[in-house]
Amino acid sequence: MSDKRFKRDTRLGHLGRDPARFDGAVNPPVYHASTVIAPDTATFKASGRRRFEKGETVYGRFGTPTHQMLEDALSELEGGADTVALGNGLQAVVVALLTVAKAGDHVLLADSVYAPTRKFADQMLTSFGVEVDYYDPLIDGAGLDARIRANTVAVVLESPGSSTFEVQDVPALAAAAKARGVATIIDNTWATPLFFRPIEHGVDLSVQAATKYIVGHADAMLGAVTASDAWANRLRETVYTMGGFAGPDDVYLGLRGLRTMGVRLERHQASALKVATWLQERPEVAEVRYPALPEHPQHHLWQRDFDGASGLFSIVLAQPYAPAAVAAMLDHFDLFGLGASWGGFESLAIPSDPHRTATTWEAPGPVIRLHIGLEDPDDLIADLDAGFARLTRAAG
Ligand SMILES: *Cc1c(COP(=O)(O)O)cnc(C)c1O
Repeated sequence: MSDKRFKRDTRLGHLGRDPARFDGAVNPPVYHASTVIAPDTATFKASGRRRFEKGETVYGRFGTPTHQMLEDALSELEGGADTVALGNGLQAVVVALLTVAKAGDHVLLADSVYAPTRKFADQMLTSFGVEVDYYDPLIDGAGLDARIRANTVAVVLESPGSSTFEVQDVPALAAAAKARGVATIIDNTWATPLFFRPIEHGVDLSVQAATKYIVGHADAMLGAVTASDAWANRLRETVYTMGGFAGPDDVYLGLRGLRTMGVRLERHQASALKVATWLQERPEVAEVRYPALPEHPQHHLWQRDFDGASGLFSIVLAQPYAPAAVAAMLDHFDLFGLGASWGGFESLAIPSDPHRTATTWEAPGPVIRLHIGLEDPDDLIADLDAGFARLTRAAG
């Protein structure tokens, strides 16, 4: 369904499907396959020697028709040439980095990247002889240009940044990198391809932790990398060489999640905006870091580049509340759960500790990250209201 006549929600219901190919079934079946039998010796021998065409089923590790349906759907949504489905979002980050970087190369990462991305870069990329460096996510094109060295091969972006939600000037940074022959990789999980299409803004590789909004129900783990034309072959080659794979049942859940992602995200956005606006008025809150709010420092960039905002943001408390006071708030919610991940139907509230090396993080109080789920926002506001009462009481 690459038919641009149709609007987003219409396409979400139809892409990554092919009833005629699958006996009329509305949903593609789940293929559990490792061995795939070749029709004759010549075909079998040939498949061992050449590069497989996308869409062929040769061996389970290289994907089945179930995988191809999700990969085609995500390529279409992200506006890329090819997508690989992977076991989780972190694996997608790793695959994107290994597609670009080798020993002797230099990689620049935004100081606000997802903490496990930082850990992979610091502990493993460096052990493979890749130099790793961090940059201020709010740097402009000239600032990035000044950080690029002769051996720089990749700039990693994440917009908005994990837990602190800085919005980057993606088109300017992608253009500055491209002018120096440097690839750009973005973690596009927060926006999903519905709200931001990085490849159209000049980015080379777009990563999704599909575990979040694509699966959308806090059950399956899934990741994906979508590549521009220039990087599509190297991406697939990397995955085939290192052995990256997503289980077919999880891929199926990703495909199913896509069907409702449009309506879910609209609701996440409307509720998050309502809750965030309410939080702005609370005396316990110094700042609500949600790009859709006009007061967000990079609201203009979000407005220029994005088509919407998802349900994840953070608040900075107005005082240096002790951990025990914050725990009194977070431990007793009726609705907000204390758990990692996000993008499911359920609301979450966790303490967050921004880690910085290229910049400094200064705030009047602790940071709490909220995921606004699909519950009624008035119930969520009441739950938060009671939480602030506990916080104030515990702070004495
Ligand atoms: C959760 C997350 C990931 C990792 O996804 P998993 O599926 O949990 O491995 C990567 N990037 C961002 C921004 C995330 O929030």
